[in-house]
Amino acid sequence: MDYDFILKGGTLIDPYQGINGPKDIAFKDGVVADLCDAVSGRTTGGELDCTGFYVSPGFIDLHVHVFWGVGRHGISPDAHCLSKGVTTILDAGTCGADTFPGFKKYIVQNSRTRVLAYLHISSIGILNREVGELKNMVYANAARAHETIKANRDVIKGVKVRLTQKLIEDSAGLKPLAIAREVADHAELPVMVHPQNADCDSLDRILDLLRKGDILTHCFHPKECGILDKEGQLRPSVKAAQQRGIVFDVGHGRGSFSWRVVEAAIKQGFYPDTISSDLHAFNTDGPVYDLPTTLSKFLYLKLPLQEVIAKATDGPAKALGMSGQIGTLKPGARGDAVVFKLIQGNFDYADSRDRHRIGDKRIIPIYVIKDGKPFNISYQI
Ligand SMILES: [Zn+2]
Repeated sequence: MDYDFILKGGTLIDPYQGINGPKDIAFKDGVVADLCDAVSGRTTGGELDCTGFYVSPGFIDLHVHVFWGVGRHGISPDAHCLSKGVTTILDAGTCGADTFPGFKKYIVQNSRTRVLAYLHISSIGILNREVGELKNMVYANAARAHETIKANRDVIKGVKVRLTQKLIEDSAGLKPLAIAREVADHAELPVMVHPQNADCDSLDRILDLLRKGDILTHCFHPKECGILDKEGQLRPSVKAAQQRGIVFDVGHGRGSFSWRVVEAAIKQGFYPDTISSDLHAFNTDGPVYDLPTTLSKFLYLKLPLQEVIAKATDGPAKALGMSGQIGTLKPGARGDAVVFKLIQGNFDYADSRDRHRIGDKRIIPIYVIKDGKPFNISYQI
């Protein structure tokens, strides 16, 4: 059989299929055409010897900001995501109903990275801190959000809302979440909530309003009303919410990942469902850098490699309702893969409060395949 491209001799980690071992993968017409112990056949694009490297489904980053030139936080998807092995990204609310058409035309349709979005419940989306997306609640326009979702279901996978007092009208309380809830329910999509400094006594009230499939991002943020109570104990509401299917997402960012919180949570048996970066223009030079660095921090936290990969492939694919289509290399799935090296050494990992830990492992992406075709990155084998 003729293929477009073959990855040969690598160790495949594909949690969706329960695979952790040597496999060859062949791609054709943008999808995985064959997966077996030894693929043979002619190729139009050649083959790559992956001996000594790991291969995984292309990473999925559930929280980034890529509306370059419009949202002040915007970064270029291909330079910061695809080149780091992240083949699918979710822009977490940088665009709203009024700005989505520009996002689709200039970002989604002009990137090799697969760009999906959670539409902000504010029609202007996230422009900058001074404007604040809901300082005027007139922007929370449910009807326009719904129309935009209806016309763009291929790209819009959920509704985003940020509950921080600086960004919403003082008297609004949890109203923005109620409006996001209504729009999301109507569209049968999840809500993603950024919960810091919410106008509430604790996270409990937010979690009360969330249902199976909804996403709570920034789950390890160090501010008040986080997943730990004042004594450092995991809130019972957090455990209960995870048990009823609410997705707890990392969303590292510049201010939302604390060694203190994550270490205490893990000690009490709490792990995130998805590991995302919240990568944006103000953290690509640290402390986030990229998704592989965030993933490597969880290796420091003693999460096995297979589980770290699961939380950046099958976990986010499930959260997107795209399980089996992306985040796996089973035949028929999108032909997205990353070849990476696991290197040993001493690596300085900072959290969002400039606290440091020294890890001994690091994930280094070497080669990326997107839709069955190689995407050259700067690392050389
Ligand atoms: Zn964000």
